[in-house]
Amino acid sequence: MKGPTPRSLLRYVTQHLRLEPYLKSPGDTRPHPQIPARTLLWSLLIGRVMRELSFHAVEQLVQTADCRALGVASSFGDDTLAYFTERLDAGVTRAALVDVIRLAKRNKAFDNCRFIGLAIDGTAAGRRSKRDCPLCRPIYNAKKKVIGYGHPCAAISVVGTGLSLTFDVEPYGPGDSEYSAAQRLLARAIQARGARFADYLVVDGEFATAPFLHAADRAGTFVVARLKDNLPELKAAVEKRFCSQPPTRIYHVGKDRVEVWDADDFDPWETLRWQTVRAFRYRQHKPDGSIIQADWLTNFPTRKAGTLALFHIAKSRWEIENQGFNDAKNRYGLEHICHHQPNSILVNWLLTLLAMVIERLYRIRYLHRGTHPVRSASQLCLLLWLGLSRSLAPDTS
Ligand SMILES: [Zn+2]
Repeated sequence: MKGPTPRSLLRYVTQHLRLEPYLKSPGDTRPHPQIPARTLLWSLLIGRVMRELSFHAVEQLVQTADCRALGVASSFGDDTLAYFTERLDAGVTRAALVDVIRLAKRNKAFDNCRFIGLAIDGTAAGRRSKRDCPLCRPIYNAKKKVIGYGHPCAAISVVGTGLSLTFDVEPYGPGDSEYSAAQRLLARAIQARGARFADYLVVDGEFATAPFLHAADRAGTFVVARLKDNLPELKAAVEKRFCSQPPTRIYHVGKDRVEVWDADDFDPWETLRWQTVRAFRYRQHKPDGSIIQADWLTNFPTRKAGTLALFHIAKSRWEIENQGFNDAKNRYGLEHICHHQPNSILVNWLLTLLAMVIERLYRIRYLHRGTHPVRSASQLCLLLWLGLSRSLAPDTS
Protein backbone atom coordinates (compact mmCIF):
# COMPACT_ATOMS: atom_id res chain seq x y z
CA MET A 1 0.00 0.00 0.00
CA LYS A 2 1.40 3.40 -0.95
CA GLY A 3 0.45 6.55 0.86
CA PRO A 4 1.89 9.73 2.27
CA THR A 5 5.03 9.17 4.34
CA PRO A 6 7.35 11.56 6.18
CA ARG A 7 9.85 11.11 3.33
CA SER A 8 7.30 11.88 0.60
CA LEU A 9 6.29 14.98 2.58
CA LEU A 10 9.98 15.99 2.76
CA ARG A 11 10.26 15.55 -1.04
CA TYR A 12 7.20 17.79 -1.45
CA VAL A 13 8.78 20.41 0.82
CA THR A 14 12.16 20.43 -0.96
CA GLN A 15 11.02 19.96 -4.56
CA HIS A 16 7.55 21.50 -4.83
CA LEU A 17 7.78 24.18 -2.13
CA ARG A 18 11.48 24.76 -2.99
CA LEU A 19 12.51 24.91 0.67
CA GLU A 20 15.78 22.95 0.34
CA PRO A 21 17.93 26.15 0.62
CA TYR A 22 15.98 27.11 3.76
CA LEU A 23 16.34 23.65 5.32
CA LYS A 24 20.09 23.77 4.70
CA SER A 25 20.58 27.35 5.90
CA PRO A 26 17.71 28.32 8.22
CA GLY A 27 19.66 31.07 10.03
CA ASP A 28 21.59 28.83 12.41
CA THR A 29 23.94 30.97 14.51
CA ARG A 30 25.38 28.18 16.71
CA PRO A 31 29.17 28.68 16.71
CA HIS A 32 30.15 24.98 16.63
CA PRO A 33 27.15 22.88 15.57
CA GLN A 34 27.51 19.13 16.14
CA ILE A 35 24.13 18.17 14.60
CA PRO A 36 23.35 19.76 11.20
CA ALA A 37 20.67 22.46 11.24
CA ARG A 38 18.74 20.59 8.52
CA THR A 39 18.29 17.57 10.81
CA LEU A 40 17.02 19.64 13.72
CA LEU A 41 14.80 21.88 11.61
CA TRP A 42 13.10 19.06 9.69
CA SER A 43 12.65 17.09 12.93
CA LEU A 44 10.81 20.06 14.44
CA LEU A 45 8.63 20.50 11.35
CA ILE A 46 7.73 16.84 10.85
CA GLY A 47 7.26 16.55 14.63
CA ARG A 48 4.64 19.31 14.49
CA VAL A 49 2.83 17.79 11.50
CA MET A 50 2.78 14.42 13.31
CA ARG A 51 1.68 16.22 16.49
CA GLU A 52 4.68 15.49 18.68
CA LEU A 53 4.64 18.83 20.39
CA SER A 54 7.42 19.01 23.00
CA PHE A 55 11.18 18.91 22.35
CA HIS A 56 11.31 15.70 24.39
CA ALA A 57 8.59 14.12 22.19
CA VAL A 58 10.50 15.12 19.02
CA GLU A 59 13.68 13.59 20.50
CA GLN A 60 11.76 10.36 21.25
CA LEU A 61 10.23 10.30 17.74
CA VAL A 62 13.64 10.58 16.07
CA GLN A 63 15.27 8.04 18.42
CA THR A 64 12.48 5.48 18.01
CA ALA A 65 11.85 5.80 14.28
CA ASP A 66 14.15 4.83 11.46
CA CYS A 67 15.99 8.13 10.83
CA ARG A 68 16.08 7.47 7.07
CA ALA A 69 12.30 6.95 6.97
CA LEU A 70 11.83 10.20 8.84
CA GLY A 71 14.23 12.07 6.54
CA VAL A 72 16.76 13.03 9.24
CA ALA A 73 20.49 12.25 9.39
CA SER A 74 20.91 11.36 13.09
CA SER A 75 19.26 11.44 16.50
CA PHE A 76 19.91 14.08 19.17
CA GLY A 77 18.84 15.16 22.65
CA ASP A 78 16.05 17.59 23.49
CA ASP A 79 18.60 20.03 24.98
CA THR A 80 20.09 20.34 21.46
CA LEU A 81 16.69 21.59 20.22
CA ALA A 82 16.56 24.16 23.04
CA TYR A 83 20.09 25.38 22.20
CA PHE A 84 19.29 25.40 18.46
CA THR A 85 16.02 27.39 18.73
CA GLU A 86 17.63 29.94 21.08
CA ARG A 87 20.11 30.69 18.29
CA LEU A 88 17.96 30.42 15.16
CA ASP A 89 17.40 33.71 13.30
CA ALA A 90 13.59 34.14 13.21
CA GLY A 91 13.87 36.38 10.13
CA VAL A 92 14.96 33.47 7.92
CA THR A 93 11.90 31.38 8.87
CA ARG A 94 9.66 34.42 8.34
CA ALA A 95 11.16 34.83 4.84
CA ALA A 96 10.60 31.12 4.12
CA LEU A 97 6.93 31.44 5.11
CA VAL A 98 6.47 34.44 2.81
CA ASP A 99 8.22 32.61 -0.05
CA VAL A 100 5.85 29.65 0.33
CA ILE A 101 2.75 31.92 0.37
CA ARG A 102 3.95 33.74 -2.76
CA LEU A 103 4.69 30.45 -4.49
CA ALA A 104 1.21 29.20 -3.56
CA LYS A 105 -0.28 32.30 -5.19
CA ARG A 106 1.85 31.85 -8.33
CA ASN A 107 0.77 28.19 -8.47
CA LYS A 108 -2.86 29.33 -8.33
CA ALA A 109 -3.59 27.76 -4.93
CA PHE A 110 -6.03 30.63 -4.28
CA ASP A 111 -7.57 30.77 -7.74
CA ASN A 112 -11.04 29.44 -6.96
CA CYS A 113 -11.92 32.57 -5.00
CA ARG A 114 -12.86 36.08 -6.07
CA PHE A 115 -10.76 37.95 -3.52
CA ILE A 116 -7.63 37.13 -1.53
CA GLY A 117 -7.94 38.44 2.01
CA LEU A 118 -5.61 38.99 4.92
CA ALA A 119 -6.67 39.02 8.57
CA ILE A 120 -4.70 40.32 11.55
CA ASP A 121 -5.68 39.42 15.09
CA GLY A 122 -4.19 38.70 18.50
CA THR A 123 -4.09 35.78 20.89
CA ALA A 124 -2.09 34.59 23.91
CA ALA A 125 -0.29 31.35 24.70
CA GLY A 126 2.01 29.75 27.24
CA ARG A 127 0.44 30.88 30.53
CA ARG A 128 2.77 30.74 33.53
CA SER A 129 2.41 31.39 37.26
CA LYS A 130 5.61 33.42 37.53
CA ARG A 131 7.62 35.69 35.26
CA ASP A 132 10.50 33.85 33.60
CA CYS A 133 11.35 35.78 30.42
CA PRO A 134 11.15 39.33 29.01
CA LEU A 135 8.04 38.38 26.96
CA CYS A 136 6.07 37.29 30.07
CA ARG A 137 3.20 39.79 30.26
CA PRO A 138 1.14 40.11 33.46
CA ILE A 139 -2.48 38.93 33.42
CA TYR A 140 -4.74 40.89 35.80
CA ASN A 141 -8.02 39.97 37.43
CA ALA A 142 -10.93 42.40 37.86
CA LYS A 143 -9.28 43.87 40.98
CA LYS A 144 -6.08 44.64 38.99
CA LYS A 145 -4.18 41.92 40.83
CA VAL A 146 -1.61 39.91 38.82
CA ILE A 147 -2.90 36.33 38.53
CA GLY A 148 -0.29 34.96 36.13
CA TYR A 149 1.75 35.69 33.01
CA GLY A 150 0.97 35.06 29.35
CA HIS A 151 2.80 35.31 26.03
CA PRO A 152 0.51 37.35 23.77
CA CYS A 153 1.10 37.88 20.07
CA ALA A 154 -0.50 39.26 16.92
CA ALA A 155 -0.62 37.13 13.77
CA ILE A 156 -1.45 37.59 10.08
CA SER A 157 -3.21 35.07 7.87
CA VAL A 158 -4.41 34.60 4.30
CA VAL A 159 -8.23 34.24 4.53
CA GLY A 160 -11.27 34.02 2.28
CA THR A 161 -9.60 31.65 -0.18
CA GLY A 162 -10.69 28.24 1.11
CA LEU A 163 -7.13 27.81 2.36
CA SER A 164 -6.33 29.64 5.59
CA LEU A 165 -2.57 30.13 5.88
CA THR A 166 -1.22 32.04 8.90
CA PHE A 167 2.26 33.20 7.91
CA ASP A 168 3.71 35.55 10.51
CA VAL A 169 3.49 36.23 14.22
CA GLU A 170 4.72 39.11 16.36
CA PRO A 171 5.02 38.82 20.16
CA TYR A 172 4.40 41.72 22.49
CA GLY A 173 5.58 41.84 26.09
CA PRO A 174 5.05 44.31 28.96
CA GLY A 175 4.94 47.96 27.82
CA ASP A 176 4.02 46.92 24.27
CA SER A 177 0.53 46.38 22.78
CA GLU A 178 -1.40 44.24 20.32
CA TYR A 179 -2.01 47.37 18.27
CA SER A 180 1.75 48.10 17.95
CA ALA A 181 2.54 44.44 17.25
CA ALA A 182 -0.12 44.40 14.50
CA GLN A 183 1.38 47.53 12.93
CA ARG A 184 4.82 45.88 12.87
CA LEU A 185 3.27 42.79 11.27
CA LEU A 186 1.52 44.82 8.59
CA ALA A 187 4.66 46.84 7.80
CA ARG A 188 6.70 43.64 7.50
CA ALA A 189 4.07 41.98 5.32
CA ILE A 190 4.01 44.98 2.95
CA GLN A 191 7.79 45.03 2.72
CA ALA A 192 8.11 41.28 2.18
CA ARG A 193 5.23 40.56 -0.16
CA GLY A 194 4.99 43.87 -1.97
CA ALA A 195 1.83 45.87 -2.44
CA ARG A 196 -1.25 44.30 -3.99
CA PHE A 197 -0.64 40.73 -2.89
CA ALA A 198 -4.10 40.73 -1.33
CA ASP A 199 -7.39 42.44 -2.19
CA TYR A 200 -8.45 43.24 1.36
CA LEU A 201 -7.39 43.29 5.00
CA VAL A 202 -10.05 42.42 7.59
CA VAL A 203 -9.56 43.40 11.24
CA ASP A 204 -11.38 43.95 14.53
CA GLY A 205 -12.55 47.36 15.74
CA GLU A 206 -9.43 48.22 17.76
CA PHE A 207 -7.50 48.55 14.48
CA ALA A 208 -10.01 51.00 12.99
CA THR A 209 -7.72 53.98 13.54
CA ALA A 210 -6.52 56.42 10.90
CA PRO A 211 -2.81 55.36 11.08
CA PHE A 212 -3.68 51.68 10.71
CA LEU A 213 -6.15 52.27 7.85
CA HIS A 214 -3.59 54.48 6.08
CA ALA A 215 -0.99 51.70 6.45
CA ALA A 216 -3.45 49.34 4.75
CA ASP A 217 -3.84 51.95 1.97
CA ARG A 218 -0.07 51.87 1.49
CA ALA A 219 -0.24 48.09 1.28
CA GLY A 220 -2.56 48.51 -1.70
CA THR A 221 -5.40 46.62 -0.04
CA PHE A 222 -8.87 47.71 0.86
CA VAL A 223 -9.60 47.35 4.55
CA VAL A 224 -12.72 46.01 6.23
CA ALA A 225 -12.88 46.74 9.98
CA ARG A 226 -15.45 46.20 12.72
CA LEU A 227 -17.19 49.44 13.66
CA LYS A 228 -17.32 49.69 17.43
CA ASP A 229 -17.65 52.31 20.16
CA ASN A 230 -14.09 53.61 19.69
CA LEU A 231 -15.50 55.60 16.73
CA PRO A 232 -18.53 57.16 18.49
CA GLU A 233 -19.47 59.75 15.82
CA LEU A 234 -19.46 57.31 12.91
CA LYS A 235 -21.14 54.66 15.05
CA ALA A 236 -23.94 57.11 15.96
CA ALA A 237 -24.39 58.24 12.33
CA VAL A 238 -24.62 54.60 11.16
CA GLU A 239 -27.06 53.75 13.96
CA LYS A 240 -29.28 56.72 13.13
CA ARG A 241 -29.39 55.96 9.39
CA PHE A 242 -29.73 52.17 9.44
CA CYS A 243 -32.30 52.11 12.26
CA SER A 244 -34.58 54.34 10.23
CA GLN A 245 -34.37 52.31 7.02
CA PRO A 246 -35.44 48.84 5.91
CA PRO A 247 -32.51 46.53 4.98
CA THR A 248 -30.79 47.22 1.66
CA ARG A 249 -30.93 43.51 0.78
CA ILE A 250 -32.06 40.22 2.32
CA TYR A 251 -30.15 37.00 1.56
CA HIS A 252 -30.44 33.37 2.50
CA VAL A 253 -27.00 32.01 3.38
CA GLY A 254 -27.20 28.30 4.25
CA LYS A 255 -30.11 28.05 6.69
CA ASP A 256 -29.72 31.63 7.88
CA ARG A 257 -31.68 34.68 6.82
CA VAL A 258 -29.38 37.70 6.56
CA GLU A 259 -30.60 41.29 6.49
CA VAL A 260 -27.99 43.75 5.25
CA TRP A 261 -27.74 47.55 5.36
CA ASP A 262 -25.08 49.09 3.12
CA ALA A 263 -24.28 52.76 2.35
CA ASP A 264 -21.07 54.30 1.02
CA ASP A 265 -21.51 57.99 1.73
CA PHE A 266 -20.66 58.44 5.42
CA ASP A 267 -18.24 61.22 6.39
CA PRO A 268 -14.73 60.15 7.47
CA TRP A 269 -13.64 61.24 10.93
CA GLU A 270 -11.22 64.16 11.19
CA THR A 271 -7.92 62.32 10.83
CA LEU A 272 -8.98 59.75 8.22
CA ARG A 273 -7.83 60.65 4.70
CA TRP A 274 -10.69 58.88 2.90
CA GLN A 275 -13.20 60.74 0.75
CA THR A 276 -16.12 58.80 2.21
CA VAL A 277 -16.65 55.77 4.41
CA ARG A 278 -18.76 52.80 3.41
CA ALA A 279 -20.62 51.34 6.41
CA PHE A 280 -22.26 47.99 6.47
CA ARG A 281 -24.48 46.16 8.96
CA TYR A 282 -25.62 42.56 8.90
CA ARG A 283 -28.31 41.01 11.05
CA GLN A 284 -28.08 37.25 10.74
CA HIS A 285 -31.12 35.24 11.89
CA LYS A 286 -30.20 31.66 12.88
CA PRO A 287 -32.75 28.82 12.65
CA ASP A 288 -32.73 28.55 16.47
CA GLY A 289 -33.98 32.13 16.74
CA SER A 290 -30.66 33.67 17.76
CA ILE A 291 -29.51 36.84 16.02
CA ILE A 292 -25.97 37.98 15.24
CA GLN A 293 -25.57 41.64 14.37
CA ALA A 294 -22.41 43.58 13.57
CA ASP A 295 -21.41 46.88 11.98
CA TRP A 296 -18.37 47.30 9.75
CA LEU A 297 -16.60 50.09 7.89
CA THR A 298 -14.63 49.83 4.68
CA ASN A 299 -13.20 51.67 1.68
CA PHE A 300 -14.05 48.72 -0.61
CA PRO A 301 -15.94 50.37 -3.54
CA THR A 302 -19.48 49.05 -4.06
CA ARG A 303 -18.72 48.43 -7.76
CA LYS A 304 -15.90 46.02 -6.80
CA ALA A 305 -17.56 44.21 -3.89
CA GLY A 306 -21.33 44.11 -3.63
CA THR A 307 -23.29 43.67 -0.44
CA LEU A 308 -23.21 39.86 -0.33
CA ALA A 309 -19.47 39.77 -1.15
CA LEU A 310 -18.86 42.20 1.72
CA PHE A 311 -20.84 39.96 4.09
CA HIS A 312 -18.56 37.01 3.24
CA ILE A 313 -15.45 39.20 3.52
CA ALA A 314 -16.51 40.33 7.01
CA LYS A 315 -17.13 36.72 8.04
CA SER A 316 -13.68 35.65 6.77
CA ARG A 317 -12.18 37.41 9.81
CA TRP A 318 -13.17 34.38 11.88
CA GLU A 319 -10.79 32.16 9.91
CA ILE A 320 -7.74 33.47 11.78
CA GLU A 321 -9.51 32.53 15.04
CA ASN A 322 -10.85 29.16 13.96
CA GLN A 323 -8.41 27.76 11.37
CA GLY A 324 -5.50 29.81 12.71
CA PHE A 325 -5.32 30.13 16.50
CA ASN A 326 -7.69 27.30 17.46
CA ASP A 327 -6.01 24.73 15.20
CA ALA A 328 -2.54 25.92 16.20
CA LYS A 329 -3.42 25.52 19.88
CA ASN A 330 -5.56 22.39 19.83
CA ARG A 331 -3.63 20.36 17.23
CA TYR A 332 -0.14 21.80 16.95
CA GLY A 333 0.77 22.79 20.50
CA LEU A 334 0.96 26.58 20.19
CA GLU A 335 -0.03 26.83 23.88
CA HIS A 336 2.96 24.77 24.96
CA ILE A 337 6.26 26.51 25.64
CA CYS A 338 8.99 24.00 24.77
CA HIS A 339 11.83 26.14 26.07
CA HIS A 340 11.17 29.31 28.04
CA GLN A 341 13.48 31.73 26.23
CA PRO A 342 12.17 34.60 24.04
CA ASN A 343 13.82 33.67 20.74
CA SER A 344 13.02 29.99 21.21
CA ILE A 345 9.34 30.83 21.87
CA LEU A 346 9.14 33.00 18.73
CA VAL A 347 10.97 30.47 16.55
CA ASN A 348 8.70 27.68 17.79
CA TRP A 349 5.61 29.72 16.95
CA LEU A 350 6.96 30.43 13.44
CA LEU A 351 7.87 26.76 12.89
CA THR A 352 4.37 25.77 14.03
CA LEU A 353 2.90 28.13 11.41
CA LEU A 354 5.27 26.78 8.75
CA ALA A 355 4.32 23.18 9.62
CA MET A 356 0.63 24.11 9.32
CA VAL A 357 1.18 25.88 5.96
CA ILE A 358 3.12 22.87 4.62
CA GLU A 359 0.48 20.42 5.91
CA ARG A 360 -2.43 22.36 4.33
CA LEU A 361 -0.82 22.93 0.93
CA TYR A 362 0.22 19.26 0.81
CA ARG A 363 -3.12 17.85 1.97
CA ILE A 364 -5.64 20.27 0.44
CA ARG A 365 -3.90 21.14 -2.81
CA TYR A 366 -1.14 18.61 -3.68
CA LEU A 367 -2.68 15.31 -2.47
CA HIS A 368 -6.15 16.38 -3.49
CA ARG A 369 -5.75 15.66 -7.18
CA GLY A 370 -8.50 13.50 -8.63
CA THR A 371 -12.04 13.03 -7.37
CA HIS A 372 -11.56 11.74 -3.81
CA PRO A 373 -12.56 14.06 -0.98
CA VAL A 374 -9.93 16.14 0.83
CA ARG A 375 -8.43 14.18 3.71
CA SER A 376 -8.78 15.68 7.16
CA ALA A 377 -5.67 16.83 9.04
CA SER A 378 -6.19 13.92 11.46
CA GLN A 379 -6.33 11.41 8.58
CA LEU A 380 -3.08 12.72 7.11
CA CYS A 381 -1.41 12.58 10.53
CA LEU A 382 -2.51 8.95 10.90
CA LEU A 383 -1.30 8.07 7.38
CA LEU A 384 2.13 9.57 8.15
CA TRP A 385 2.36 7.44 11.31
CA LEU A 386 1.32 4.34 9.32
CA GLY A 387 3.92 5.20 6.67
CA LEU A 388 6.57 5.43 9.37
CA SER A 389 5.53 2.16 11.02
CA ARG A 390 5.77 0.32 7.66
CA SER A 391 9.44 1.33 7.52
CA LEU A 392 9.97 -0.32 10.95
CA ALA A 393 8.27 -3.63 10.00
CA PRO A 394 10.80 -6.52 9.59
CA ASP A 395 11.56 -7.50 6.01
CA THR A 396 10.17 -11.06 5.62
CA SER A 397 10.77 -11.42 1.87
ZN1 LIG B 1 7.99 34.17 29.39
